Amino acid sequence: MKILVTGIAGFIGSHLAHKLLSMGHSVVGLDNYNDYYAPHVKRQNVAALQLHSNAHLLALYEGDLRDETFIQGIFQQEAIDAIAHLGAMAGVRNSIDYPKLYMDVNLTGTLYLLNEAVKHNIQNFVFASTSSVYGNTKQIPFLETDVCDRVLAPYAASKRACEMLGFTYHHLHKLNFTGLRFFTVYGERGRPDMMPYKIMENIFKGTVFPLYNHGQMLRDWTYVEDIVQGITKAIEKPLGYEIFNIGRGEPLLLADFVQIAEELAGKETTLASTSEVLKADMLSTFASIEKAQKMLGYQPITDVKVGVAKLMDWYKKEVLLDA
Ligand code: NAD
Repeated sequence: MKILVTGIAGFIGSHLAHKLLSMGHSVVGLDNYNDYYAPHVKRQNVAALQLHSNAHLLALYEGDLRDETFIQGIFQQEAIDAIAHLGAMAGVRNSIDYPKLYMDVNLTGTLYLLNEAVKHNIQNFVFASTSSVYGNTKQIPFLETDVCDRVLAPYAASKRACEMLGFTYHHLHKLNFTGLRFFTVYGERGRPDMMPYKIMENIFKGTVFPLYNHGQMLRDWTYVEDIVQGITKAIEKPLGYEIFNIGRGEPLLLADFVQIAEELAGKETTLASTSEVLKADMLSTFASIEKAQKMLGYQPITDVKVGVAKLMDWYKKEVLLDA
């Protein structure tokens, strides 16, 4: 298959592209290398992809999801079979300050891709959604049948809107659309604005970050390779319109996640623990993964201790030694 991976230079996108190339698929990658975090990090992610033994199956496009002509051009150029749409402005807290940017990139960008998907008879559209769509739901663990109409931040609103637009395109045009709600993804090449990376920065560089609510939020930490497993399974299986939780289903308090990192490093963190609770932050995330297990055959396999050890090894080799 020839698969368009948007956001290929990012954290999850670069892992997905590695996997798809290893599976022998052709990959068309799109990214605008924006400066939400260091663009050189994104360029390094793509440079590593270009060293893959199947790099001859990789085509790269640099441009913006908001540029409709650019998006149309890719579909004219490449005979794409399926789309894995990961490109987005991520980051819950940042979206409070830049709501228009989040709506433009996440919603309008998705709309342009949906239009091309219909025009070019794309077999399957897999969309990166988020556990954030659940807001502070009382349904624990989170179930895909929840209405999800009480989101806490513009980022979550933009993603929920995309899921709904996906349904509309399925209804009107019979497009196969699968929305995958990822739960707190961590691992090698992780996003610098996320807590797992910040914990590494604190342990190894002493950079101090706040630990909100004294770390008493439950998070369903999911290792990036398990997320990629969920995405590849969804790509292979067009299902009409479906939404799946892609998490681990075994949440841990942030404070416990920090402790695992401390034990692995043999060193205590110096995070600034505070009782402050951010309004856009969810109190807990907890995936029911039953539906994905049954319908996709998804099965996360990475224990948090194993995943954090991999993140730490990568951080020491690639971030600390590279500095
Ligand atoms: P990331 O920021 O590392 O990757 C997103 C990529 O999209 C970046 O490389 C960025 O440059 C690109 N991009 C952003 N705006 C663009 C634009 N206008 N045009 C073209 N490219 C653009 O984030 P990630 O953590 O890898 O997330 C990937 C996807 O998964 C996102 O859609 C995100 O919302 C979703 N997600 C992530 C998590 C997580 O825990 N990391 C959780 C839930 C959902």
